[in-house]
Amino acid sequence: MNLTLAIIKPDATGSGAVGRIVAHLEATGFTVRSLRMLTMTTQQARSFYAVHRERPFYDSLVSFMTSGPCIPIVLEAPDAVMRLRQTIGATDPAEAAEGTVRRLYAESRERNAIHGSDSDDNARREIGFFFTEAELAR
Ligand code: UDP
Ligand code: MG
Repeated sequence: MNLTLAIIKPDATGSGAVGRIVAHLEATGFTVRSLRMLTMTTQQARSFYAVHRERPFYDSLVSFMTSGPCIPIVLEAPDAVMRLRQTIGATDPAEAAEGTVRRLYAESRERNAIHGSDSDDNARREIGFFFTEAELAR
């Protein structure tokens, strides 16, 4: 699939990194298909990350993700999911490769600046979580 979902997380919207992150994504070859800004409710964040509900970091992650505004972005490129995962880097910025978004802008394993879908199926689900068909139409 040529679409994936990124989310600029509350640490990065709060630190003034939004423009640089979007510029980085565009410079990497992505086209922005749609974007919006919202502060997620606890219910939205719990649902978005439901796959992690048994993990020890779940409650803290939900608290972080609802602590300020997020910017979900639908990105278009060939092999979008794989390309975005390479562009954002490893979950922990200390382990993320040089030049990746997380290496450049993330604070910690939790406050790691950006989300990227990890499969085409999850990209479809996650895009549908934030955007209507009409918002993706051109
Ligand atoms: N996370 C965390 N502690 C961990 C692992 C993950 O706080 O030990 C947070 C982090 O914000 C991460 C999100 O939970 O981005 C989802 O975790 P996942 O394993 O899916 O990492 P990702 O796919 O975002 O790299
Ligand atoms: Mg993940």
